[in-house]
Amino acid sequence: MCVPTETILECSLCRCEFDIDGEGGAEGTIGGFVEVAFCPTCKAGVLDFAQQEIDQELQDVLDEADQLAGMVDRLEQIKAQGSGLLEIITVTDVLAACRYRYLKYRQEYDQHIEA
Ligand SMILES: [Zn+2]
Repeated sequence: MCVPTETILECSLCRCEFDIDGEGGAEGTIGGFVEVAFCPTCKAGVLDFAQQEIDQELQDVLDEADQLAGMVDRLEQIKAQGSGLLEIITVTDVLAACRYRYLKYRQEYDQHIEA
């Protein structure tokens, strides 16, 4: 006869008790040391939240890439028209935008590592 083993945990978000073996959910650590458990409902919510964050990050990167691509297009148009001074100004703009993006992501990366 099979006796079911229950693993009752308390959800870190809604504080309900749930049986991770019977109901599902998740347990683990965040950042390697904060122990968490999520009931099935909160697990679904956390995954949805994470997906929204990832989608927004991706959209931000795509928007910035579009802006850079637009600047490169303008540079190529100016180059085709043979205007030397404007070409230099535009190259400077593109490099400044690249530098800004690099510094922004570098800062976010450093904060992520420190956290
Ligand atoms: Zn919960």
